[in-house]
Amino acid sequence: MNIILLGAPGSGKGTQAECLQAEFGLTHISSGDLFRENFDQRTSLGFQAQAYMQRGELVPDAIVVAMVRHRLQREDTESGVIFDGFPRNVAQAHALTDMVAELERRIDGVLYIEVPDAELIERLAGRLICRECQAPFHITYKPFQICPYNKCGGEYLYQRDDDQPETVRVRLETFHEQTAPLIDYYDRAQLLLTVPGAGPIDAVKRATLDAAQSLLPRQGGDHGDG
Ligand code: AMP
Repeated sequence: MNIILLGAPGSGKGTQAECLQAEFGLTHISSGDLFRENFDQRTSLGFQAQAYMQRGELVPDAIVVAMVRHRLQREDTESGVIFDGFPRNVAQAHALTDMVAELERRIDGVLYIEVPDAELIERLAGRLICRECQAPFHITYKPFQICPYNKCGGEYLYQRDDDQPETVRVRLETFHEQTAPLIDYYDRAQLLLTVPGAGPIDAVKRATLDAAQSLLPRQGGDHGDG
């Protein structure tokens, strides 16, 4: 199963991806995480991307597409992928369709996590990320309790530069102008499932898992519980 998680910055894509990864054994590919890893490792790709990221703008398509294409060559993607933060515009969506077709795979569904802007702004203001494993936390809504990967005790948490209010404003504008058209695009392709993303985290997780479950082919049909 290959799933795209679509949603504005702060909509909880990273948190939901963690949950889908655990439940369905899918590989999580986050284009933002790949850029941040490249930057931490001081690669030229990381430096190229950094200026755009700091301004809250999209990194040029050619750079992102090449990076995702490269990541998709790895064996761990064969059993299925959650794309988080990619594609972010229609040109990237076309590129992704071509890439998966070349690999004789396909996109099974697009989960759009819908959250009102006011809530996104509040969430991003309190968001903390683990520098080691990229797991997302929140000062109030999801304080660090335990590392989901059993790697640390919360000592690597930091606030992303681009979660500062002025950059958040630009990122939300970028989302509405460039990424939101994908909602209609994937709806027309009959791949879109909308998950209500505001409200308690457990309810959003449940709704995300249910949506992903509905993409799986039905097994046998003799269990009587759907
Ligand atoms: P994210 O971690 O998904 O919020 O991404 C952080 C930043 O990385 C974005 O604000 C963009 O500057 C850049 N970025 C991540 N994914 C993409 C993409 N698919 N296309 C262009 N830029 C991206």
